[in-house]
Amino acid sequence: MKKILITGGAGFIGSHLCKKLLDEGNDVLCLDNYFTGTKENIKELSDSPYFETIRHDICFPLYVEVDQIFNLACPASPIHYQHDPVQTTKTSVHGAINMLGLAKRINARILQASTSEVYGDPETHPQDEKYWGNVNPIGPRSCYDEGKRCAETLFFDYYRQHKLDIKVVRIFNTYGPKMHPNDGRVVSNFIMQALTNKDITVFGDGKQTRSFCYIDDMVIGLKNMMDSDEGIIGPINLGNPTELKIIDLAKLIINMTNSKSKIIHADLPKDDPVRRKPDISIANKTLNWKPTIEVEDGLKETIKFFQTQIK
Ligand code: NAD
Ligand code: UDP
Repeated sequence: MKKILITGGAGFIGSHLCKKLLDEGNDVLCLDNYFTGTKENIKELSDSPYFETIRHDICFPLYVEVDQIFNLACPASPIHYQHDPVQTTKTSVHGAINMLGLAKRINARILQASTSEVYGDPETHPQDEKYWGNVNPIGPRSCYDEGKRCAETLFFDYYRQHKLDIKVVRIFNTYGPKMHPNDGRVVSNFIMQALTNKDITVFGDGKQTRSFCYIDDMVIGLKNMMDSDEGIIGPINLGNPTELKIIDLAKLIINMTNSKSKIIHADLPKDDPVRRKPDISIANKTLNWKPTIEVEDGLKETIKFFQTQIK
């Protein structure tokens, strides 16, 4: 039995990871400040004697004894990370310093949940890990993008300078049950709008693309990376390479929900990436990982979840 700390454990990805690691017989410590995560997400785990929660902000130091740390704490949706951009950068940067300091002190393995946003508005397609990115350092997305880039820098400097056992994954758009219904991301927005027959808000002309990975696939990718051999440090892309235009996602969700919603167009947010699709050959080869869940199947489960969220 391993003792595993998951920061951001009450969030969307974190809560699924907590469940999986608990089901596999580990002792899980879930840390969260509940900025975007909820106690509801982890309620089903609270009866287990091997599940513990701690309310804490990773911008402040932490003293616990664990074998592994998954560092997931950070708001991920643009409306949430732009709500208090200074806190977002602090969470990424001070948070990384604190969690790396903890890992160093207790000699724990630590995994960083980085993001496809480190590639910014990419000029190469699909994006592989060698690409250094095209990121605006002073725009509204910069608190998140540059914060996550700096966190990667810190991870690699702790690796080089202190021989820390690090792992860095770059997560691409992930969706599924337990996403916050109001978190503003495209899948949750479109499904909630479709289920309530409200207008579907496509930003811009909808020709921008994203590639959507279902949560169950992502959790396996994260676990495989954490359990990989010591020499494997990343960064490694994790995501589903099936690329979709946002307008096509809107139509698919309208169809799948038999919705009466109409598509309307709203302004495209500043610096919204035009195309995004992961090259996952390294994850495939090194972690023996690739997504197995088709977007229609993942959406079906996600729609079922959001049906339970309508008051
Ligand atoms: P989420 O917002 O649902 O979860 C983030 C969690 O971190 C929340 O529970 C929140 O309350 C917590 N948190 C935020 N700031 C904190 C702080 N200072 N101290 C402690 N807890 C804090 O988002 P998610 O989709 O589950 O994302 C999890 C991680 O994965 C994030 O680091 C995100 O950047 C990364 N990621 C997610 C996606 C995606 O598509 N979901 C894509 C790329 C990267
Ligand atoms: N988007 C949209 N309507 C919405 C929410 C998002 O058209 O109601 C678009 C957004 O402009 C972007 C894509 O969907 O092009 C994905 O947005 P999201 O916020 O989910 O994640 P991102 O990949 O931009 O971080």
